[in-house]
Amino acid sequence: MSIDFNALATRILDGGPDSEATEADALAVLQAPDLELMFLVAAAGRLRRQHFGNTVKVNYLVNLKSGLCPENCNYCSQAVGSEAPILKYSYLSKEETLEQAGAGLRGGATRVCMVSSGRGPSNRDIDKVVEMTEALKDEYEGVEVCACLGLLKDGQAERLKDAGVDAYNHNINTAESHHDNIVQTHTYEDRIDTIGRAKSAGLSPCSGLIAGLGETDEQLVEALFALKALDTDSIPVNFLMPFDGTPYENTWELSPTRCVKILTMARFVCPDKEIRIAGGRELHLRTLQATALHVANSIFLGDYLTSEGQDALADLHMLRDNGFSILGLDDAGFAELIATHELNAANAATVHRSHAVSTTPCGSSAGTGCGDGCGGCSIAQAPAEDNKPVIRARGAGTEVAANA
Ligand code: SF4
Repeated sequence: MSIDFNALATRILDGGPDSEATEADALAVLQAPDLELMFLVAAAGRLRRQHFGNTVKVNYLVNLKSGLCPENCNYCSQAVGSEAPILKYSYLSKEETLEQAGAGLRGGATRVCMVSSGRGPSNRDIDKVVEMTEALKDEYEGVEVCACLGLLKDGQAERLKDAGVDAYNHNINTAESHHDNIVQTHTYEDRIDTIGRAKSAGLSPCSGLIAGLGETDEQLVEALFALKALDTDSIPVNFLMPFDGTPYENTWELSPTRCVKILTMARFVCPDKEIRIAGGRELHLRTLQATALHVANSIFLGDYLTSEGQDALADLHMLRDNGFSILGLDDAGFAELIATHELNAANAATVHRSHAVSTTPCGSSAGTGCGDGCGGCSIAQAPAEDNKPVIRARGAGTEVAANA
């Protein structure tokens, strides 16, 4: 069914009874012909601008604990049984967490998302996150902290809240009707329970989904309406990264236009919520990343938990070139941020060129990998062969500077 998307946006903007997008509207967005993509984006962009102007919220991930998870989420490179050659380490120290978070904040992020693998935190893990949060809040005025530690038990959300944690992320990932096909070691209800605990403790709820897991269009709509019912403040939309060594290693169901339609549907259904383009942005949206930001209003800067994102400077250029501003930064601050990154990149390129001549690997320097193919650098960016996720080998848990 094709509908008038501009009329739908007008109806939603006007408010009042029956103004909200229905499941049928959402399905129509998802199933719109590619030729109508720009009409869709223009219509949903009206909602985006109404609530968020041209700002983009920049978030930064710090993977506190990588791999070694006993859960079997089939999509996850950190799951039990995953043979993806990811970094594996236990909790970062407070000092390393501060260093990693600081890189993201200096890179333009306003929210630090501290994530740890595992079914859920022990009380000792909560002690560590409390300490890290207090240190972060002391050192970086105004920083927003989001924790993502898995399933919460009694009293843990309250302890995080008391320490100054602002938000808690726990994704529903997919529709309830599809959940048990993608993980068997915990239930959809377990996930809903944790989101409820976070909300009850006064933490801002962040919950989203992963598209491309074999779900139907109707199940994507089901998942989004579940998020709407949960009234989560932020909705990260991930696109499956099919890591080699996981059950989904050869699953490629998404196209760039499909991804834009999923984000557009999210904007129509949850017009005033933070819609974040999360993992898989580069792999799946490809040249439509900036187009997608006309409906979404939030991204992760730099790298993901176990894979590398595009260079942070490329993220910043994309925002600037498309007329967006960074939430929390004025024009001068944004210009200065880009100038600093460009200077660092130029210095790094000089260092790497000298390595190409001397064939001495640098191993550090400006740290994000020059990508100039000098061949002498141990941190040159790995090529994304066959458009596969590139395993993260910098930032948290390594000696190599972060991509931020
Ligand atoms: S998504 Fe979280 S709980 Fe599931 S396997 Fe990965 S790290 Fe473990």
